[in-house]
Order: sequence, then structure tokens, then C-alpha cells
Amino acid sequence: MERGLHFLLLIFSLTLCAQKSPVDTAQVRIPNRYNSVDAQTKPYVIMISTDGFRYDYAKKYNAQNLLKLSAEGVQAKAMIPSYPSITFPNHWSLITGLYPSHHGLIDNFFYDYKRKEFYAMSDKKNAEDGSWYGGIPLWGLAEKQGMISASLMWVGSASDAGGNRPTYYYPYHEKFTPSEKVNKVIDWLKLPMDKRPHFISLYFPEVDGSGHHFGPEAKETEEAVHLVDNAIGELVQKVNHLGLKNVNFVFVSDHGMIKVDSSTPLEIPAILFNKDRFDFFNSQTLLRVVVKNPEEVKSVYKELKAGKTDDYEVYLDKRLPEYLHFGAKDDQYGRIGQILLIPKAPRIFLEKGKKTSVGKHGYNARLVPEMKATFFAWGPEFKSNLVVDEFSNVNVYPLVAEILGLKIEQPIDGKLKVLKQILKEKK
Ligand SMILES: [Zn+2]
Repeated sequence: MERGLHFLLLIFSLTLCAQKSPVDTAQVRIPNRYNSVDAQTKPYVIMISTDGFRYDYAKKYNAQNLLKLSAEGVQAKAMIPSYPSITFPNHWSLITGLYPSHHGLIDNFFYDYKRKEFYAMSDKKNAEDGSWYGGIPLWGLAEKQGMISASLMWVGSASDAGGNRPTYYYPYHEKFTPSEKVNKVIDWLKLPMDKRPHFISLYFPEVDGSGHHFGPEAKETEEAVHLVDNAIGELVQKVNHLGLKNVNFVFVSDHGMIKVDSSTPLEIPAILFNKDRFDFFNSQTLLRVVVKNPEEVKSVYKELKAGKTDDYEVYLDKRLPEYLHFGAKDDQYGRIGQILLIPKAPRIFLEKGKKTSVGKHGYNARLVPEMKATFFAWGPEFKSNLVVDEFSNVNVYPLVAEILGLKIEQPIDGKLKVLKQILKEKK
């Protein structure tokens, strides 16, 4: 993996990259797994992530199904993504209840200095290797406690993270239309009771793809919102036809989207190109610097700070605002870096001569509201006609665990008390 660093500097992905190798679209089924008698009495949860579905998209683009269904259930004004507001870190935060620094997926691409290996979201081998993923994903918790789960391409769902893959899953690809995914969910729910998944996670990449390529204001993004909204309408209608008693829907996204200033990108400080002294990792909305000689950290920090413009901030990992949970204290896997250069939206860092996309995410959602994500929930377990204030996305995990009657086995960052109020009181 020596070429890895160069690779990382060059590589740049607009969205979840499709695999280069032949696409395997077949479902994987793990044999000899059954719901316990107790699990068969529990509710169903279908957790849907629409990548890059900004907190205001449903209203802005009049997503009729989502607006109607969530109005009958629960709508959050917004959901705060974990920092950085990037896809893999946030999908894994939603599904583990941990901040990125605590579960280890601190970026879509990063280097692990202890393993001496790169993680890249586009690498199938990485994506399916659970040793990269900290925490216990909701499907793993379910399977461990005798409840069958299924996933349609949620981040990490083809890996053995936490010890148990979902009973039904797919290797990642983008060959299925939203409507085809809906039909696969329905097929799962038609299985006999002992084999029927009670926790289903489902992923739609289309809105993020359009947001990156065309920007959040574009007609194409509006169309992608309607594509997913129609699929949700179809899903709910078909689920209703099945006549199952207690099916609940949680609709989330990982982050929002903003149109960035890609015509006048910020220059990466020249000093950082000295490969003997530094590694740097540029996700454009965040630039992480690893100083190879720890004794140089302070002087380099001072130098970067003295040379900086008003268009970005320079932080020592120790001094990053605590609420971001992305500083030295939180960096459990030592993957973040000692110095962070954070552009002010809509500015980005870009290597010379490199092209970028119209829309981006990754900024601090508390400073850049366009980064905020969506949370809607409806179904028999949820209260009706309720609007709640924004909350951090690590709190979704204990909510779903509570509905499914799963015991949380390891400490997490999310707290049930944050969202318990959106559930109907138990009789
Ligand atoms: Zn994303």
C-alpha cells in the first residue's frame, strides 16, 4: 500500500463509488438463522437512509409522500450529523450510536498508522472487513439477540462488524432502482414468521449523487427527491397490503448539501507537500494533517496559523470545540491527525489542477445549516402529529433498539432519553 498516499491525494469520490470489479447483485443469505419466539412478537422497523437528503428538501421540493406520512407521525426540524458531515462516518454513527471518532470511520478515506493500512470506502475488501468498524451495528445487536435482520446496502452491512452480518444482505452496488429495492423489502416481509426480518435497513444514493453533480438547487436534485419519495410511497402502500401488525418507518439522511465555491478554491499550504514531514488528507471541506515528528506539531501549527487567510481555521486537535467529538481526546483509533484545517463554507481546499463537484458536505452542521440532515418517523410505535427540535444523529440507535426490544450491550454516545418522547407510552 505504499502508493496509497498518492492514491489518496488523487482519489476523489463524488458519491459511493461503484465497484470496478464485476458487479455481484445476488442477495447473500446466511443459513440456519431464525427469529426466537420472543423476537416474533416484536415490532418491525424499516430504517431508510437517503444519502444527502438535506433537512429542508422534503418541503423545498414538495416530497408529498414523505410530508404526508411524517405529518401523521414525527418530524424533526432537522437532525445534526456527527462531525465531519461525511457519508461513511455518519451512516456508521446512525447504525452504532457512536461518534465517528469512537467507531473509527472518521472519514470516507483514511490511514491507520497502527495497521499501516488505508481504508477507502470504494475498496470492496475494506468495505466487507468488519475489523475497520467499531461498535455493534443495529443488525448485529438484533442477530445476537435472536432477531433476524436484513440490509439493502447500508454502509458496512456486508461486513462482519460487531460479529454478525445481517441474515440477508447485498454486496454494495448501484444497479437496483429504488422501486426494485422496495420489492426486495416486500419479499423479505413475506417470508414465514421465523425467517422474516424485524429490522430492515435500506439505502438510497440518488439524492446525494445529484446534489454533488448539479448542486442542491438543481432540477436534477429535485427529481432525485421525487424518485425516492415515490419509492417511499410505494413501499408504504405495499407494506400496508401485507397486513402486518406493527411496521414502523424511520427515514433519515446522513448529511445535507451546499453549493461550494469551486472556481476559487483555497490553496493547500505549500509546507504540507513535504512528504518526509507530513501526511495530509484532504476531503476538501476538511484537511487533516499528520505531523510525523510529534515534536514539530506546535511549531507547524504556529506556522500554519500565521500563514492562514480568513477563509479557513487552523486547529490543534486538542483545541477543537468539544461538541464536535473530533479532537485528540475523542480520537480512539488515532486516525484523525494533530492539526485540522477547516475551510469556512462555501470555500474548499483543492489540489492545483484538480476538478471538483458543484455540491459538497463535510462542514460543521452547527455553523453551516445546509449540512443538517432529515429525520422522519411514523408507524404504530410513534406518536402522531409531533414536531421535535433538532438532535444529534447518535440518538437514533437507542430509539430503534427500544422499539425492537433489544438490549444495548456496550456503552454508546446516543441516549434514549433524547427521543423517548416521540414513542407512544407503553400501556
Ligand atoms: Zn452521504
